[in-house]
Amino acid sequence: EEDRAMLSAWGFDVDEDDDQEADPVVAIVGRPNVGKSTIINRILGRREAVVEDKPGVTRDRVSYKAEWSGKDFTLVDTGGWEADAKGIDAQVAAQAEIAVAHADVVLLVVDALVGISATDEAIVRMLRRVDKPILLIANKIDDTHQEPDVHALWALGMGQPYPVSGLHGRGLADLLDAVLEVMPEHSQYAEPEALGGPRRVALIGRPNVGKSSLLNKLAGEERAVVNELAGTTRDPVDEIVELGGRPWRFVDTAGIRRRVHMAKGADFYASLRTQTAIERAEVAVVLLDVSEPISEQDVRIIQMGIDSGRAMVLAFNKWDTLDEDRRELLEREIDRDLAHIKWAPRVNISAKTGWHKDKLVPALEHSLDSWDSRIPTGRLNAFLGEIVAAHPHPLRGGKQPRILFGTQVSSRPPKFVLFTTGFLDPGYRRFIQRRLRETFDFTGTPIEITMRVRE
Ligand code: GDP
Ligand code: GDP
Repeated sequence: EEDRAMLSAWGFDVDEDDDQEADPVVAIVGRPNVGKSTIINRILGRREAVVEDKPGVTRDRVSYKAEWSGKDFTLVDTGGWEADAKGIDAQVAAQAEIAVAHADVVLLVVDALVGISATDEAIVRMLRRVDKPILLIANKIDDTHQEPDVHALWALGMGQPYPVSGLHGRGLADLLDAVLEVMPEHSQYAEPEALGGPRRVALIGRPNVGKSSLLNKLAGEERAVVNELAGTTRDPVDEIVELGGRPWRFVDTAGIRRRVHMAKGADFYASLRTQTAIERAEVAVVLLDVSEPISEQDVRIIQMGIDSGRAMVLAFNKWDTLDEDRRELLEREIDRDLAHIKWAPRVNISAKTGWHKDKLVPALEHSLDSWDSRIPTGRLNAFLGEIVAAHPHPLRGGKQPRILFGTQVSSRPPKFVLFTTGFLDPGYRRFIQRRLRETFDFTGTPIEITMRVRE
C-alpha cells in the first residue's frame, strides 16, 4: 500500500493489482485500401476513435483501446505507408512486421472483391514465419451474392476466411467471437512501455566490485525514501530510489544487500541471478573494479548484458584507489577487452566516497533514450540513400549489391531490416552499422541490423 501511495505521489499510474500485465494486442495488417480503417472504426463503434498516439514511440503504428463482450484489448493499426511504387511490397510487409512483432493475434485483411494480389502474398510470406494465431478477413462482402469471392481466398493458405463488411458491420460479431477464442488473457508480446512505472535498473558485476556500496550510497545519501518492494514472496526484491528528481527501480537487490555466502556452485547461482536481474531490467549498470585487472568474468557479464539487448552503462568503480601506473594499465585493458562495446557510456566513480555518483543518472538517461529511439522510415532512407551514394558497395563479380529500402522494425533495442539485392559484405555491413550509430546517436544501446535479400 505504501509503495503504491509513493508511486502515485510521483505521478505514476498505479493499477489496482500492480500486476504489470498489458491487455492482449490484436494487430490489423493488409495492403492499403483493403478496408482496415473502416473495420477498426466499426469495431470501436465510433468515428472519432480515441487514438492512443504515444509520441515518439508509435510513429509507424496507431493503437486503440477496444472491447468486445466485456474483454479489453488493444487494436493496432499499421500506417505510414509511403506511396512509392518501387519496393512497395517490401515496405508494406515491413510495416506489417512491426505491428505483428508485438501482437498476440493477427488479423489479415484482404479485399475479397479484388482477390489475391502480389502485395497480399508478400504479407502472407512474412506471416508464415509468425507463430501466433492469424485470422484471415475477407472484407467488402456487403451481401451474400459475393460468397464465391470469399472461397477464392482459401488459396492464400491462411485457413478459413471470415466474410466481413467493414462498411456495414456484417460478419464482425462472428469475427470478434473468433478473436476472443484465440486471444490470451494478458499480452505475451506487448512492448514494455505499455507497462509504465519507473525505469528498471540492474546493478551487475562480479562479487566485490562494489554493487552494494553503490546501492547504499545512491539510496542513503540522496535521503530518498528507500523502499523494499517484494516482487513476490520469493527472492527478488526491488528498491525504488529517487535520483535526479525521479524514481528508479533497482531490480533484484536482495542478492546485493544480503551478502550471500559463497559456497560450492555459488558461481552458477550468481550468474543465474545476474541473468534474471538483466531480464527484469531495461538498463544494466555493469560495475568494474579498477583496482584489479579486467577479468574474464567481467567480460562474460558484459556479454550477458549485450546479448540480452538491454541498454547499458559501464561504471568504473573504486576510482579513488587509482594511481598513475594502474591507470595506464587500465587504459590498455580497456582497449584490449572492451573494444567491442565502445558504444556504452563510461562513468568513473567511487562508491565508497560518493565521488561522481551524480554522473550515473545522465548516463542512464542517455542509454535509455537511445534504447527507446525510433528512426522514422523517411529519415532512415534519406540516410541510407546518402551513404550509399557516397560509398557504394564494392563491385563483386561484376555485380553490385544495392540497398533498396530500410526500416526500423522495433525499438528497445533498435532493430533494423534492410532490403537488398544480394548479400552485403561483412565489412560493408559494419560500415553501415558504424554510420548508423554516428548519425542517430545510439550511445548505450545495442542495435541489430538484419538483411532481407530479394531473390
Ligand atoms: P485501408 O487503407 O486498408 O485502411 O482502407 P480504408 O478503410 O480506408 O478503405 C478503403 C476503401 O474501401 C474506402 O473507400 C472504404 O469505404 C472502402 N471499404 C472499406 N470496407 C468496405 C466494405 O466492407 N465494403 C465496401 N463496399 N467498401 C469498403
Ligand atoms: P559487491 O559484492 O559488488 O556488492 O561489493 P561491495 O559493495 O560489498 O564492496 C566490496 C568491497 O569493496 C568492500 O570492502 C567495499 O568497502 C569496497 N569498495 C566498494 N566500493 C569502493 C570504492 O569506490 N573504493 C574503495 N576503495 N573501495 C570500495
